[in-house]
Amino acid sequence: MTTTRFIFITGGVVSSLGKGLGSAALGALLQARGYSVRLCKLDPYLNVDPGTMSPFQHGEVFVTDDGAETDLDLGHYERFTGVPATQSDNVTTGRIYLNVLNKERKGDYLGATIQVIPHITNEIKDFIREKDGTADFVMCEIGGTVGDIESLPFLEAIRQFGNEVGSARSLFLHVTLLPYIPAAGELKTKPTQHSVKELMSAGIRPKVLLCRADRDIEEDELHKIALFCNIDEKKVIPALDAKSIYDVPVRYHKEGLDTEVLDYFELPNEGDVDLSTWENISKRIHDPEDEVTIGVVGKYTNLADSYKSLNEALTHGGIANNVKVHIKFIEASIFDGHANDIVQELDGVDGILVPGGFGERGSEGKIKAAQFARERKIPYFGICFGLQMAILEAARNLANIDDANSTEFSEGGTHLVGLMTEWVKGNARQERTSDDDLGGTMRLGAFPAKLAEGSKVAEIYGCTEISERHRHRYEVNINYKDQLEEAGFFFSGLSPDGKLPEICERRDHPWFIGVQYHPELKSKPFDPHPLFTSFIKAALDQSRLV
Ligand code: GLN
Repeated sequence: MTTTRFIFITGGVVSSLGKGLGSAALGALLQARGYSVRLCKLDPYLNVDPGTMSPFQHGEVFVTDDGAETDLDLGHYERFTGVPATQSDNVTTGRIYLNVLNKERKGDYLGATIQVIPHITNEIKDFIREKDGTADFVMCEIGGTVGDIESLPFLEAIRQFGNEVGSARSLFLHVTLLPYIPAAGELKTKPTQHSVKELMSAGIRPKVLLCRADRDIEEDELHKIALFCNIDEKKVIPALDAKSIYDVPVRYHKEGLDTEVLDYFELPNEGDVDLSTWENISKRIHDPEDEVTIGVVGKYTNLADSYKSLNEALTHGGIANNVKVHIKFIEASIFDGHANDIVQELDGVDGILVPGGFGERGSEGKIKAAQFARERKIPYFGICFGLQMAILEAARNLANIDDANSTEFSEGGTHLVGLMTEWVKGNARQERTSDDDLGGTMRLGAFPAKLAEGSKVAEIYGCTEISERHRHRYEVNINYKDQLEEAGFFFSGLSPDGKLPEICERRDHPWFIGVQYHPELKSKPFDPHPLFTSFIKAALDQSRLV
């Protein structure tokens, strides 16, 4: 069996330090050294999973192949390592308590008094321990900031776990911040010292420090941190702001992150490491040949994190075509009722993308964006909700179904988009009804689809059988296929049983594709999703037309 080494990543001083990114980059570096890695995230909040959390507060919900709604950091892990995340790679305090309370109700604890230590901490340790033997390195990121009340059971659990497997198999890595104080003209190390002290008071001694800063850290500052925090000086690693997140693996390697991690575990750490994949990605990002602008007509547009994977997938499409992709976020609800604003906002974009979304607000604007793209022959990419809105647009304006609507926001009208109460996944039948719990009614995770021979999507994918990840409650109603095909929509991708439309494309348009799934979730900088590569190419062609 593989000897697994565990790396625990904590964060101090402030949140949003890029712990997830740092973990993902370290994962990529260890892979480049020839090791297998697995990354997981322990989140201290009380929600059972992020599925029902607002993207405004918590950023996007990342969906795995096995249908888990997880923290967006799992998206970073996949984009940097290519290892598909699973349900068992993300856990929250809420889930841990739910498991413990379920066991208590079943009598599994034989009447014992249930306590944070040992019951909650044991449950957390079980979550970590089940990964033993699955990779050379298992990396566990602890969400939140050291010192938060919510993090304490997690810190206690990883402390115990570290003791149980021993220091030869466990490493504590702490990510911290050195703020720059303009009046003093220097970076300050005191918050880092305090944060390490706080971690030590939980019984955890970090052995590697990743120090975030917005400028060079002087030698004597590194020396001071090493001295006060009781850490080997070489293992105090500067982690300066990078222009692109994809520069991070190479940057951290140059600062010695992977070398020092391997040194800690007494593993070979010399010789050349081939990081050419990452170097090439950085080169394409910083030195593109051209540029395109994509208008993203959405709802959570004031917070880039709510469309994290989408933004990254567009960047990957740019990498594939060696162009810079500018994203122009357009709040869909500003279009509700004002047709003229659309012309103003969308004029000049090279492609229009309507991403996934929920609820009625902004839906009319998205429908108008689809109409604008169709009529002006501008490349249109509809993702999930973006497909549904394009279907409503064609039904209303081309198929004479004036009251075409979705059951999501209208009880009346003709429901071209509606709730399917059952469908088939493999041999198991799943059922959804409108009164199920909000968290449990969606079509979630990977589902296969068959693509029509000779369709544009079959050409783009280069095959006719695909598997993509879903997260939605409603479906385009297959019973309207004939009418929609007459209105120019070709149903080029269907579920294997032929009941669920997965892809619709327009044949009277240079690039107009709507998909019911979320292709952005599987795109990687070193393996851009073919639909994004093709969409950016179409946008580039469009930009050269004008
Ligand atoms: N709201 C739509 C549905 O539930 C689309 C969801 C999405 O875009 N992810 O079907």
